[in-house]
Amino acid sequence: MMQTEERKDIKSMTLPELTEALEELGEKKFRAKQIYQWMHQKLVRSYAEMTNIGGTLQHKLEEHFKFTNLNILRMQESKMDGTRKYLFELEDGEVVESVFMRYKHGNSVCISSQVGCRMGCRFCASTLDGLARNLTPSEMLDQIYAISLHTGERVSNVVVMGTGEPMDNFDNLIRFIQLLTDENGLHISQRNLTVSTCGLVPKIYELADLQLQITLALSLHAVTDEKRRTLMPIANQYSIDELMKACAYYFEKTGRRITFEYSLVGGVNDTKEDAAGLIGLAAPLHAHVNLIPVNPIKERDFVQSEERAITAFRERLEKNRVNATVRREMGRDIDGACGQLRRRHMENKDETNASPCP
Ligand code: SAH
Repeated sequence: MMQTEERKDIKSMTLPELTEALEELGEKKFRAKQIYQWMHQKLVRSYAEMTNIGGTLQHKLEEHFKFTNLNILRMQESKMDGTRKYLFELEDGEVVESVFMRYKHGNSVCISSQVGCRMGCRFCASTLDGLARNLTPSEMLDQIYAISLHTGERVSNVVVMGTGEPMDNFDNLIRFIQLLTDENGLHISQRNLTVSTCGLVPKIYELADLQLQITLALSLHAVTDEKRRTLMPIANQYSIDELMKACAYYFEKTGRRITFEYSLVGGVNDTKEDAAGLIGLAAPLHAHVNLIPVNPIKERDFVQSEERAITAFRERLEKNRVNATVRREMGRDIDGACGQLRRRHMENKDETNASPCP
């Protein structure tokens, strides 16, 4: 019987894995490091650009391994702050978006971890059509590589806060972190990497046990289970009490302070009582609170809290020695909330596409 062997995704392989695979193909060990550095440090986009490995090996690689590259479909740059949103096309035609932000302390890229999302948070545009599929480690990495090449600038911080629930794609996430922080790759420090989750409790424990030095951000958004359930379906599965225990475990295991993300929704979660509840949760964990004025999406009727309410909320936290920042809305003039660029693209595609989608 004919075997149709799938070509391995070379950009998702660790250096030891690549070394082993090349040795099996009869190649010298040192080749693996050369090839790995071409991909992950010099960020080349084809075997042909690996000029010191020879044509024969280039052909052999082509035959045995596929080379993942993302194509830029669209780029929008904010006139306000230079923030850029990229829409990428994957090999199977799916699209994902990423954001490039310039800060005083360096450039930051926000990447997607899945095509769509199945978590169903009520205020989020990324989840409206559900989950299409997980992203591979190379597809997560290449969002950063492609942006770095396109801007010609170094990326020093990465946040996994775009479309998708990273903990729902756990194994690929961990491999992505390994590759991103590898000394033979971009070598981004674990401390400059933040992973944001809606709170998959067992995965928080699993991540804690790996004892990485990354920042874990928990999307809390409400301080009672009742209210959280109205905003986030995941709250039906795990209570805030269970979540706080998992966060305490993470802090204990890694020594890294947790960040709570709290999207302020006008008249929903921005009262004095909400602030008091948040202080009660954040203080014992020494958690940092990141307040995000909700970015309204047209499919839902959530509105932003008033400026006065946002300031009062932050001041309440700070008076009680809870460290809080209000996330400045970068690139407000370019398709607001996460997932909206992709959605707009899909909607336009549907309009121009005469054949009905199944
Ligand atoms: N699934 C992960 C990461 C992606 S979302 C998570 O839930 O954390 C990144 C952050 O943006 C989360 O805190 C999410 O709740 C928040 N978010 C999503 N849509 C938003 C919106 N319209 N306005 C404000 N924050 C939003």
